[in-house]
Amino acid sequence: LLLLCSIGVAFIAVRWSATSFNEESLKGARVLVTGASTGIGEQLAYQYARLGAQLVITARRGNVLEEVVRKCKEMGAQKAFFIPADMASPPDAERVVQYAIEQLGGLDFLVLNHIGPSPYSMWNGDVEHTRWLLQVNFLSYLQMAQKALPTLEKSKGSIVVVSSLLGKICGPFTLPYAATKFALNGFFGGLQHELAMQKSNVSITICILGLIDTDSAMEKIKGYINMTAYPAHESARHIVEAGASRQPEAFYPWYTFYACLFRDWFPYFRDLAIQNSYTYNP
Ligand code: NDP
Repeated sequence: LLLLCSIGVAFIAVRWSATSFNEESLKGARVLVTGASTGIGEQLAYQYARLGAQLVITARRGNVLEEVVRKCKEMGAQKAFFIPADMASPPDAERVVQYAIEQLGGLDFLVLNHIGPSPYSMWNGDVEHTRWLLQVNFLSYLQMAQKALPTLEKSKGSIVVVSSLLGKICGPFTLPYAATKFALNGFFGGLQHELAMQKSNVSITICILGLIDTDSAMEKIKGYINMTAYPAHESARHIVEAGASRQPEAFYPWYTFYACLFRDWFPYFRDLAIQNSYTYNP
């Protein structure tokens, strides 16, 4: 066990130290960020803006996006545009990528981050909601990726997928959401292999996040679980760095890496710990 732990620590040290990130490399980079009206997506837009990128942002609420675009320009974005779109509507996903390519004259980063609202509660048997959420949180990601891939291939670009620890480890109260995140990890993890086998220029970064202090997440978990939420702007910085340094997988905060590493070692105790960390009165 000690030997395994030592190897693990050495591996992690190499992994972290291998991350190289040149902020200058993002100056003028052409970036499309989805779900950028609030939360982590909004913070992602500000991080790219601060580094002088050219941005297109999207979400459903145009009036909120307009304000984010204004701030992005103030913060140093070379260009910033917005396009309202609803990812529940399949044509919207491709329309957004087309718009970004036209406005920016190509694309270097496709940052897939949006999620549709989903209740935080025991599964009530509603299959239709899961079908709808799969379109918003999963299928639209595939549509946008396929539309952007030829352009990203030309620019040696990157797809950044914002995923979750709940797409790696099962938990209660978020079944439809978790299903979409498991689907994302499975699909884009497989696509990483296929692109490598085709010697593609495109990198894919899958970001595994723990609890982040966005308004929507904080509102959902209230009364269910008491755990530390990490700052959205920090998570956004990690995501931007991981994408720019073409890491295949990124973890934020630190405990998500260990949770994934040790996930299957002691399943009985893992499940006990998960079930006992929530407040639930049947
Ligand atoms: P928020 O709920 O704060 O933001 C979601 C974004 O998606 C908003 O900009 C929203 O804007 C947009 N959106 C919602 N529905 C649609 C739709 N139908 N079509 C297009 N856009 C839509 O989410 P977070 O910032 O908390 O999460 C961002 C990412 O981080 C997600 O992928 C999430 O899974 C991941 N994550 C978050 C964690 C957390 O604790 N916060 C933990 C682990 C992962 P609008 O309403 O204007 O459409």
